[in-house]
Amino acid sequence: MSNLKKAFLVKYGEIAIKGKNRYIFENILADHIRRALKPCGDFKVSKEQGRIFIEPFSDYDYDEVVDRLSRIFGLVGICPVVVLEDMDFETVKEATLMYMKDEYEDFNFTFKVESRRADKRYPLNSMEIACEVGAYLLDHIPELKVDVKKPDVKVWVEIRSRAYIYSKIIKGLGGMPVGSNGKAMLMLSGGIDSPVAGYLVAKRGVKLDAVYYHSHPYTSERAKQKVIDLAKIVSRYSGRINLNVVPFTDIQLYIYEQCPHEQLTIIMRRIMMIIAERLAEKYGAIALVTGESIGQVASQTIQSLNATNSVCNMPVFRPLIGFDKQEIVEISEKIDTYGTSILPYEDCCTIFVAKHPVTKPSLKSIIRSERRLEKIDEMIEEAINNVELVKIKPDEEE
Ligand code: ATP
Ligand code: MG
Repeated sequence: MSNLKKAFLVKYGEIAIKGKNRYIFENILADHIRRALKPCGDFKVSKEQGRIFIEPFSDYDYDEVVDRLSRIFGLVGICPVVVLEDMDFETVKEATLMYMKDEYEDFNFTFKVESRRADKRYPLNSMEIACEVGAYLLDHIPELKVDVKKPDVKVWVEIRSRAYIYSKIIKGLGGMPVGSNGKAMLMLSGGIDSPVAGYLVAKRGVKLDAVYYHSHPYTSERAKQKVIDLAKIVSRYSGRINLNVVPFTDIQLYIYEQCPHEQLTIIMRRIMMIIAERLAEKYGAIALVTGESIGQVASQTIQSLNATNSVCNMPVFRPLIGFDKQEIVEISEKIDTYGTSILPYEDCCTIFVAKHPVTKPSLKSIIRSERRLEKIDEMIEEAINNVELVKIKPDEEE
């Protein structure tokens, strides 16, 4: 191995087009990178003309660094690079050759050199850099072949305030950095859908807090732990989450006693929305997120969704609305929540379900039934006052 200096250059997508706000996005992204890499070693993270440059000052585990970077929303590509402070063209050519020998075991592939020159004072333009480096590599590695149209490998030589050489771009998650688009309150159950919904909204730069309705003793401690575990997995992408565990048993029993059983689920879901909205206000969140998808169950027909939605003033984001179950499962596998979601502990909705729930509830009739819930305002107040707050952070931050 040569003693070339290794580092990472990070590419970001959409945030580059955000005009004046661009620097805010870049700063948030750089902060996320710093926080994510803190346990891995000593790194300097700096902005570099539309890229972020990560320079190590200690030993580090390459796979761990890449793994952590690949969970940060807003990154589209992670390039392991070689960095040259000395940009003399002879040095650049030699370093590119050394880089190739370090990086590849055999050279049975086609290649092309791509070049970018951000520093226009550099004596060669990007065409010349690409041609000359390409010729130099061919001279010294005879097995290599050039293919300018469809090369197996593109070797990048970028001349900026330093020179960067790389040929591998590890795909990032895309999206936008969390915190660049406000905050939402995720209704998180122990199922498959809501963690995926939270992930997708966080992907668009939205910070998350969460609420879970717990019906002790109808739902066990293990069911609650499962939700905490799911929140932890989501937080690996979304960052820290304030999880509000709402004591929901009294409200559920009260609805059960007072209202027609076929309407239980809808009424319960309406109360859940009211509480979620109140908690959202408390935490400065301005939208709710659920894992609903049209037609998945009786409470998710569009009539039911309409009945549930009509108690809220905040927008309710339902990122899975048009997804099939299988598509949701695929994402949950990818983000690693699936294994936890399918653990068999009851969540509160499965206890109090009627045999024949309404699938096309009439809002009028629901509201009529709810008039019997004379004490509900006090009970909502009481539930909110007795929330147990669980502060969730990703395991690797502990
Ligand atoms: P999930 O897989 O997310 O549990 P689901 O298909 O089981 O969804 P429902 O049980 O009808 O669907 O719930 C719809 C949505 O309501 C969930 O995606 C979640 O956002 C919210 N929700 C349901 N139960 C709870 C709960 N106990 N605490 C918090 N949110 C809940
Ligand atoms: Mg559920």
